Parts: sequence; structure tokens; C-alpha cells
Amino acid sequence: MSMNELIKSNIDKIKKQIKEAEKNAGRKEGSVKLLAVSKFHPVEAVYDAINAGQFDFGENRVQEAFSKFPEIFQKFPNVNLHIIGQLQTNKVKKAVEIATMIESVDRLELVKEIEKQCAKIGKNIEILLEFHTGEESKSGYKTSESLEETLEFIAQGNAPHVIPKGFMTMAPFTEDTELIRKSFSLMREIAERMQEKFKNFNLSELSMGMTHDFEIAIQEGSTEVRVGTAIFGQRT
Ligand SMILES: *Cc1c(COP(=O)(O)O)cnc(C)c1O
Repeated sequence: MSMNELIKSNIDKIKKQIKEAEKNAGRKEGSVKLLAVSKFHPVEAVYDAINAGQFDFGENRVQEAFSKFPEIFQKFPNVNLHIIGQLQTNKVKKAVEIATMIESVDRLELVKEIEKQCAKIGKNIEILLEFHTGEESKSGYKTSESLEETLEFIAQGNAPHVIPKGFMTMAPFTEDTELIRKSFSLMREIAERMQEKFKNFNLSELSMGMTHDFEIAIQEGSTEVRVGTAIFGQRT
């Protein structure tokens, strides 16, 4: 199989698994979006995925995203890029230039900088707030109070270019599926609580699930799974 065919067959397979997981969880077909995580893979691999009908991509590092995606956008303006990795304040300017969504917002300072850079170029950007639910991952808000503080800041009208859409989390890297499940269900509970408090926002997006745990995430209410390895192969 050529790389092109392999990536297409991987995407078809995952889409089928997503559909199956939706059905098993009693969820509506098409309620879970696939984000293809192309980090560490060359631009050619992204084109292969696009050829297979995949238009939503995730990248961890702004620098790498910037070296790949501008040329892709030229050819395919309907491609969406989400930034999913820890974001340093000094990378925000470039991030908001190329991303339609930043999923890894983990502090109020970042929201302030995103607002500042978006205001400069007159662009609105969607964000997810990343919450820390698993022992192994270090990133994300650690308390629901700190989440609330950020949402309150936006709700007060301090960041009109920043559109909160929901939450993102990473489960611990373990074989223990119950631990993984707990991590996702905690995220969902906190998301529901925040939606109750901030009724003027639509916080319905839950970005949860990767190659090894996306089926559990879908059972626990994920609306977007971020899949890299199962599409593009091992990262080197
Ligand atoms: C790398 C990465 C993924 C994809 O991981 P796979 O296990 O390769 O599917 C998803 N989310 C985040 C935040 C990542 O850094």
C-alpha cells in the first residue's frame, strides 16, 4: 500500500470506529468530530489526509504548524487547524494567525494575550479550556475555580475576540481503562457545571480521546477526538 492509500484506509477505519462508538453509546451519528493530529509528520501526509476527505487538523507546536500550514491553506482554504499543545505567550501572535481554534488554553494570561493579538488583526478565535484530569499530563487548569475565573473574565466582556466553545483534556497514559474513564467523566461533569454557571456561552465542545482511548472518550461524551498515530503512524 502506498502512503496515500494507507492514510486513507486508516481514516476510513477510524471514522467507522467513531460511528460504531457513537451507536454503542446511544449518541447521534455524526456527533463526534475527528481531528487529525499531524505533528511530526510531513506536509505530504497532510495532503494525503485531505485527499481522503479530512479537513480538520491538530498541531502541537506553533513553529511546526507555521512551517506546514500556510501553503496548505493556499491550496485548501477550507482546512481548519487547531493548536492543541502547550502555548507560550510569545507564540500566540503566530498561533492566532493560522489557527481557527486553540484547544490548549490553560491560564488567564493566555486569554489576555490571545485577545490582544486577535484585536490587532481583527480576527475572532475559538478556544477550549484545557483541564487537568489525569496524573501524568502536566498541562491544563488544575481547579474549577481557576477555570471559572477565566470564563468570568471573558463573560465580563474583556475578551470580545475570544469565543469559548468548551473544554479539552488528556487522560492519563495507562492501560487502566477505569482510570481513563474517570478522567473523561470528571471533565464532562466540570463542563456541565460551567455551562450551568455561564449560560450565555455555548460550552458544548468536549475534546477528549486519542488513538488509545477515543472509544472510551466517546462513551463519556466527547464531541471531538484528536487522533494522530492511528492515522499517520508512529512519530519518529
Ligand atoms: C499528540 C497528541 C494527540 C494525538 O495522540 P495519538 O496518541 O498519536 O493519537 C492528541 N492530543 C494531544 C494534545 C497531543 O499532543
